[in-house]
Amino acid sequence: MAVYHGPVCRLCRREGRKLFLKGKRCVSGKCAIERARKKPGEQGKGYRRKETDYGRHLREKQRVKRMYGMTEHQFRNCFERAAKKKGVTGEELLKGLEMRLDNVIYRAGLARSRSEARQLVTHGHFRVNDRRVDIPSYTVKTGEIITMREKKIPGNIQDAIVMDVAPPKWITLDKKAIRIEISDLPKRIDVTEEIEERLIVELYSK
Ligand code: SF4
Repeated sequence: MAVYHGPVCRLCRREGRKLFLKGKRCVSGKCAIERARKKPGEQGKGYRRKETDYGRHLREKQRVKRMYGMTEHQFRNCFERAAKKKGVTGEELLKGLEMRLDNVIYRAGLARSRSEARQLVTHGHFRVNDRRVDIPSYTVKTGEIITMREKKIPGNIQDAIVMDVAPPKWITLDKKAIRIEISDLPKRIDVTEEIEERLIVELYSK
């Protein structure tokens, strides 16, 4: 499955919830969810799609997959890796998603959305332990240090810093030096978005 290049607000409308895919716009009154627009294909009064149990599981998986900006193939692989780990599969899945390099840049507050973070990574702006890494799915490890490659800070990183998002406990950010340290592993409690990972595990285990 190819990467989705269409209008991203449509994805939020489809899920009926904010997926925070557009940075600043997501926290403004311009957000399509704030303006309570209908889901794609739900024009006309009184239309309600009946949700089945399978549909509920599928929607949760789609929502989380879209939130992290992943393809089905990438998301499934992440699940397979989580399933092989000793811990609770759902929590291991979230841990795997959180530790992707693009997500770390977003969580640290150096990008206004995950898609912006992904673009910054693919454009080669970051180094991990002094090595240039331009793979958004790169999984960070505890103790790794992420720094900027160039001295001049790109405008979109500066804009993101202005938003002053507090990073989770497992990420230590030195804003002045633009230096991130992975000080711990993410815990379930660190994932602030509402996610029912149990539904995803059940869907893939059917
Ligand atoms: Fe989703 Fe952000 Fe668009 Fe709102 S503005 S619908 S949260 S992508």
